Amino acid sequence: MITIRPIPAFNDNYIWHLQQNGEHWVVDPGDAAPVMRALQGERLSGILLTHHHFDHTGGVPALTRTFDCPVYGPATIEGVTHPLSDGADVNLMGNPCTVMAVPGHTLDHIAVLMEDGRERYLFCGDTLFAGGCGRLFEGTPGQMHQSLARLAALPPHTRVYCTHEYTLANLAFALAVEPDNQQLVERQRAAAALRERDEPTLPSTIALERTTNPFLRTDQPSVRARAHQQGAPDTADAVEIFATLRQWKDVF
Ligand SMILES: [Zn+2]
Repeated sequence: MITIRPIPAFNDNYIWHLQQNGEHWVVDPGDAAPVMRALQGERLSGILLTHHHFDHTGGVPALTRTFDCPVYGPATIEGVTHPLSDGADVNLMGNPCTVMAVPGHTLDHIAVLMEDGRERYLFCGDTLFAGGCGRLFEGTPGQMHQSLARLAALPPHTRVYCTHEYTLANLAFALAVEPDNQQLVERQRAAAALRERDEPTLPSTIALERTTNPFLRTDQPSVRARAHQQGAPDTADAVEIFATLRQWKDVF
C-alpha cells in the first residue's frame, strides 16, 4: 500500500512524497531542501515531473547530484532520464502507470495515473486544481478544455494530487459561477475548516471535481448561463464557455 504525503514548498506548492516498499519518490520537487528534510536520511529512489515550470523542477539538479536517481517526465525538461509521452505505460514503485498528455497550462504538461490495487492516484501538476484549473500560459482554451475532459473521464474514485494549495480561492470563484450548487457550498465550508487548522485540502477526487469544479461543468445550464452574462455568445460551444470562465477567473 502506497503512502502519499505533501511536502509544502514555497508559498503554496505541494511536492508529493510517495513511499512504498522502502522506496521514496517525489513529484514536482521545485525545491530540494524540504525534500531532504522529509527524507530524514532515507534515499530518494526517483523523481516524477509534470511540466517544465521552475517551481516544479528547481530541486532536480541538487537531488540527482545527491541520489543519482532516475527522473521521469516530459522530454522538454533538462535532466529527464526517462521521457514520458502520451499513452506510455510505465511502472513506478511496482505500480502500473498511464501517461496522458494534457497541454494547456504548458504545452509539455503530462498527467500520470497510478494504479495500486483498486486505488487510482492522479498526479496532474498545474492542469486540474481542486475547484479550478491552471492558467493558460502556453496552450489554447481548446487544448485545456480537452485535457480537463480527459481527466474528468477517469474513474470517479481517482484521487487528485495537484500541486498548489489554491482551493479556497478557486472555490470562491466557483461559488461566483454557481452560487446555488449545494455540494459546492458544502465543499467550501469543509475546505475552509481544513485551512483554519492549517491542513491541506488535497487530495481531491474526480467525483468531487465533477460536481463542484466549474471548469469541468461547461455543459451545465447554470454554468452556461453565468458565462453568457460574462460575454459568451448565445451560440457558444463548450470551449467558448470554458474560455470565458478562464478569462473571468484571470481577473477575479
Ligand atoms: Zn506551472
